[in-house]
Amino acid sequence: MKENNIVEFIEELPKKIPIMAETDVLVVGGGPAGIAAALSASRQGVKTIILERYGFFGGVITQAMIGTIAWYRYAQTVDAGGIQEEIERKAKEMGASIDIIGNVKNKEMVETLEKEGLMVNGKSTYEVLDTELFKYVIDEMLQESGVTPILHCWATDALMEGEVIKGVITESKSGRQAILAKRVIDATGDADIAFHAGAPFRKNPKNELMEVTTNFGCSGVKIGKFLMYIYLNPGKIGDWGMGGETEGSSESFSSYLVEPFKKAKEAGEIPKDVLLESYWGCYTDAGEIPSLNAVHMTNIDCTDVWDLTRAEIEGRKRVVWALEALRKYTPGFEKARLRNIGTSLGTRESRKIIGEYNITEHDVKNQARFDDSIGICPEFVDGYGVAILPITGRYFQVPYKITVPLKVENLLVAGRCVAGDKISHAATRQMCCCIVTGQGAGVAAAQSIKEDVYCREVNISKVQEILKEKGVRID
Ligand SMILES: Cc1cc2nc3c(=O)[nH]c(=O)nc-3n(C[C@H](O)[C@H](O)[C@H](O)COP(=O)(O)OP(=O)(O)OC[C@H]3O[C@@H](n4cnc5c(N)ncnc54)[C@H](O)[C@@H]3O)c2cc1C
Repeated sequence: MKENNIVEFIEELPKKIPIMAETDVLVVGGGPAGIAAALSASRQGVKTIILERYGFFGGVITQAMIGTIAWYRYAQTVDAGGIQEEIERKAKEMGASIDIIGNVKNKEMVETLEKEGLMVNGKSTYEVLDTELFKYVIDEMLQESGVTPILHCWATDALMEGEVIKGVITESKSGRQAILAKRVIDATGDADIAFHAGAPFRKNPKNELMEVTTNFGCSGVKIGKFLMYIYLNPGKIGDWGMGGETEGSSESFSSYLVEPFKKAKEAGEIPKDVLLESYWGCYTDAGEIPSLNAVHMTNIDCTDVWDLTRAEIEGRKRVVWALEALRKYTPGFEKARLRNIGTSLGTRESRKIIGEYNITEHDVKNQARFDDSIGICPEFVDGYGVAILPITGRYFQVPYKITVPLKVENLLVAGRCVAGDKISHAATRQMCCCIVTGQGAGVAAAQSIKEDVYCREVNISKVQEILKEKGVRID
């Protein structure tokens, strides 16, 4: 095999491709960024399609059971508002979120949680999404807002006219088809469309990319016994700074669990070099720990199908090891069963576009302010050995220009693949920021159609005005 695992090339003969749909705005990818982009574009009165390769929306939330959309929120945290707030509210209304902290009634415990900023006036600062029911919540939200959903459909190429994107090529059970669009928002997480359109991008060397995770859930857990064990052996935020930089509440409680895996390694049951450390997020009254974010693998490039295959298979093997370790060494897990394994590997990092502006480590750590702000994000940085939590009211503004790729017109990029340097990614990859860039891109795409200008040239003051009307905090 040659570089990038390519063996050789063949010539594909030109052929006619049926056009399956035409739209004003096409959003590719149905994760937090794509959902926000589609909702906000459609609400501006433009015809909007959202395209997703799997059979449900939600991205990492529903594929990898990551319901902790707002676990960063402390009493003093200044939030983004907008669609993030709406998603949490809607999920709560529809019974699709779990309040693990709000159930605490013990006076002493409530006092501790209030002191730590995780409870205000006896109410928790955040709830965890029920990631299964959340699939239904998103279906409802998209339909209520008039978005046309397309599932089980991959975007595999960009249709270009010179430097202007005109749509995408798709692959599905219906075959190879095309969708034409006046504006395209790439919310694939991996900047797939920007890549196919020829927009400049960067990707860290494989051995420096953040780890991928095979997430799994357990049922049959004796929750009371498990919580007692956690009470006696609490994890701390400072435990997972990986020896690096930890700011803000490093002594605070974290659902970090590593002891059972250490014991299994010491007993020779799991190879010592296997990366196993878990965040367990929440529990249910049905004896479930729905998300064990424990099995992490490095040196995986999720834009390489061979790496993806290797990691999925290796990940499942390690889930079985992890499950055995939990059963053997974690009180309450003795009779636990595997509830599920994420539909897909959870990816934290791959391609990032080079944007009109590239947000920096300095920006996300120093409350950066921008004239073209499309929202704010609390100072929440998690990755590469840095763990900063927004326990004070610190926040940075998110500039529109990080969603605008160089060279390609009428394409915007939202979510974890927006433009920025290495450490800034530890902030912009967080769901709250992905939703901010998604909502901003959706409004900007719709507005640029109304103004009949390229997305790059949209009247940003008008975009900001609309976002403010929609409850987004801009400054
Ligand atoms: C294990 C793990 C734990 C995490 N924990 C947290 C946490 O607790 N809190 C937090 O805020 N963040 C967390 N994150 C980060 C966060 O979940 C992601 O960065 C965020 O979901 C990215 O959103 P996105 O919309 O950009 O991409 P994604 O969520 O990856 O969504 C992209 C969507 O696009 C679809 N797609 C991709 N390519 C194509 C294509 N070519 N055609 C059609 N569809 C396509 C995908 O199927 C997917 O649905 C975690 C990430 C991981 C992996």
